Amino acid sequence: MLEETLQDKPKKCIYKIGKVLCIGSHATKPFITIGPQWPYSVCLGIIIICLGCLFVGYLSLKTYFILNIIGAALVPFCLLLFIITVLKDPGVISKNKDIDEVMLNILKQDKHFCDKCLRIKDFKTVHCSECCVCVSNYDHHCIVMGKCIGGGNIRYFYAFVFTGMIGVFYLFTVIICLIINTTD
Ligand SMILES: [Zn+2]
Ligand SMILES: [Zn+2]
Repeated sequence: MLEETLQDKPKKCIYKIGKVLCIGSHATKPFITIGPQWPYSVCLGIIIICLGCLFVGYLSLKTYFILNIIGAALVPFCLLLFIITVLKDPGVISKNKDIDEVMLNILKQDKHFCDKCLRIKDFKTVHCSECCVCVSNYDHHCIVMGKCIGGGNIRYFYAFVFTGMIGVFYLFTVIICLIINTTD
């Protein structure tokens, strides 16, 4: 019974790989990963919500109705993409724990060997020194997202960046319309 409990322990749904907090099963890919610089992403999330409330709930109402409708669709969509990027697993690879001394010495000679994760990396996998994990299809480490951008979340990341740029354009449009309306 005790043995069973101990064996069940690694299957815990909250665990850490390097500095990345993972939520989900050990057996499959983690459902949620939270990077080491998560406070930055919390700040950005608050900024998006505050700007959204200010522009959609107040300022755009003083301009044209269509701007209010666009904002009401754009801000939640942008926020959704942001949340998915921040929480989704970029492709973290767990540290290899089942390795003996002999195997380690053989693998060490491979130039693609990661001496932190004790694994051979493929050419798209990079070890992130910020997160202390190997990430498959690594793109870059994003401080604002607080984590790596890799194969698992890159589509959502670029969709967020694109939506964010439209969002900035939207904010300027509302400001310009406000200025025009007040000078009339
Ligand atoms: Zn590594
Ligand atoms: Zn990273």
